[in-house]
Amino acid sequence: MPLIILTGYPTSGKTHRAKQLQTYLQSRISSLPTTSPSSSLRVHLISDHTLSIPRSVYNLETKSQHERSNNASEKDARATIYAAVKRVLSTKDVVILDGANYIKGWRYQLYCESKAVRTPHCVVHVGTPVEKAREVNDERLTGRTALAGENSGEGESREEEQPYESECWENLVYRYEEPNAMARWDAPLFTVLWEDEMPPCEAIWEALVGPDAEGGKKAV
Ligand code: ADP
Ligand code: MG
Repeated sequence: MPLIILTGYPTSGKTHRAKQLQTYLQSRISSLPTTSPSSSLRVHLISDHTLSIPRSVYNLETKSQHERSNNASEKDARATIYAAVKRVLSTKDVVILDGANYIKGWRYQLYCESKAVRTPHCVVHVGTPVEKAREVNDERLTGRTALAGENSGEGESREEEQPYESECWENLVYRYEEPNAMARWDAPLFTVLWEDEMPPCEAIWEALVGPDAEGGKKAV
């Protein structure tokens, strides 16, 4: 049914929150009586990682034409993500879009897509302070150097756990366009803080699915 758009700085914990939301929604849906129209909802988690989009696409703004020539651009990556969302988004599917989603116009485009299929949407802002998010990326950079030093070939971390190059990380933060609850494409807007145990799952469920689960119809 709805589209859940995560947004936040790089290494702010978006993937962590997306997985928590996925687990919550799956168990919430499976606990519904089969008579509920929402009991057959499917949950999809879409991210750069699930689409095999490497971190390096975000490097490009700061790289020379020569260095980027063999790589897909960030624009191509967005086209891939858009197609993946469009493919599954329907009134019977919950789509969790895990990514920075830092461009206002891009979030607007996604919002229009949810309206086009007459399904609700919301934005979940992973509101980790910039210093904390930077610390996480720096730790990963340090860890990567240590691993390379060992040259063991073991402990290869997964793509979604790879650090961003420092310059790229700073650039993404610089370009980040904060969501605004007053803008219809960013509303309803939920925020999850670093200290929070869980995202506000119950409120998200109520806003997007709740009335339909009771057999009513959620207005879009
Ligand atoms: P992003 O997807 O935004 O790049 P991740 O979800 O991969 O960030 O999180 C980066 C790291 O920080 C991961 O190791 C994750 O387990 C950890 N992390 C994320 N959010 C929290 C949190 N709220 N508290 C503790 N650790 C967290
Ligand atoms: Mg991630």
